[in-house]
Amino acid sequence: RQKIAVLTSGGDAPGMNAVVRAVVRYGITKGCDIFAVYEGYQGLVDGGSLLRKMDWKSVRGWLAVGGTSIGTARCMPFKTREGRLKAAENLVVNGIDALIVCGGDGSLTGADLFRNEWAGLIEELESTNRITREQAEKYNVLTIVGLVGSIDNDMSSTDITIGAVTSLHRICEAVDAVSTTALSHSRAFVIEVMGRHCGWLALMAGIATGADFVFIPEKPPQQDDWESFMCSVVERHRHLGKRKTVVIVAEGAIDKDLNPIKAEYLKDILTNRLGLDTRVTILGHTQRGGSPAFFDRLLATTQGIEAVDAVLEATKDTPTPMIGMTDNRITRFPLMKAVKLTHEVAEAISVKNFGRAMELRDPQ
Ligand code: ADP
Repeated sequence: RQKIAVLTSGGDAPGMNAVVRAVVRYGITKGCDIFAVYEGYQGLVDGGSLLRKMDWKSVRGWLAVGGTSIGTARCMPFKTREGRLKAAENLVVNGIDALIVCGGDGSLTGADLFRNEWAGLIEELESTNRITREQAEKYNVLTIVGLVGSIDNDMSSTDITIGAVTSLHRICEAVDAVSTTALSHSRAFVIEVMGRHCGWLALMAGIATGADFVFIPEKPPQQDDWESFMCSVVERHRHLGKRKTVVIVAEGAIDKDLNPIKAEYLKDILTNRLGLDTRVTILGHTQRGGSPAFFDRLLATTQGIEAVDAVLEATKDTPTPMIGMTDNRITRFPLMKAVKLTHEVAEAISVKNFGRAMELRDPQ
């Protein structure tokens, strides 16, 4: 009887609960014992009551609940070998030989590292008598499967990450709400959205709400005097009779010299050069919260099921898979390859190779 543990780690994303529910329930139908690890990797390091066996009822109603009910945390100890050694001990002592991790690129990097180190960790635990020889032999392989939970949609080799669509929907609703007041007062709004180094949320929100101007990290404005260019676009729209102005800026937006472009700066430009009554709205954590949209419930459920199948089909030699989605189909992609490509995108942005950054983000 296979024992599988599931955890959520890094920034929370709507749909993580649906992942846990799918893993628990599908795992049970496949005859597995499923454990939830509470508080991300901290739960693995500390063990004890943070490792809980789940049954069918434990996840009742979780499809519709935002965030992650098993908790998530940034866990410094897991970044150290000593921390991972404790995590390995807790897994072995509880008889768990497979781990499903739902998180961002940091969490998935940690997961892959843990799997690659596994043999050495087991050897050390046995030689220091923290586990028995029988345990060392029985648990000589750790199976890991990764799922990408991130509102930012910032992982390479998958079209979409769990939580991104819900977040985008929240942003659209907020921009629509702000738009009505902008229209009433003929105001301009500069709206800052999340996304870290990725402009997906900002760009998609710009398209979906008909924003006047969007700033994203992947494609900074190329004009030397981009401020004048933005003003000319906004002015043209105003001359066409538009009573509102909406500028969306990704939190990671930069100019072509890699200087951050901040919402307050844009407000000053619109106020001083165009005389527009301009306000800044920073959407903040409302973008992460609330009930997952249909798509994230579906994505989380189908990918959670795929993750359990991937665990059951894993061999010692399969590279750690990341469950993704390409052209509407659920995929398995080597985790480390995806993480590497994701880091290359960030690198390409920081060396001003913007076209390359967009190419890398979507290698298919
Ligand atoms: P995200 O998964 O959303 O990218 P973080 O980068 O904060 O978020 O990672 C979440 C957790 O994953 C960290 O607190 C740490 O416990 C673990 N982690 C991240 N990077 C590594 C790494 N290189 N090695 C080991 N563990 C890591």
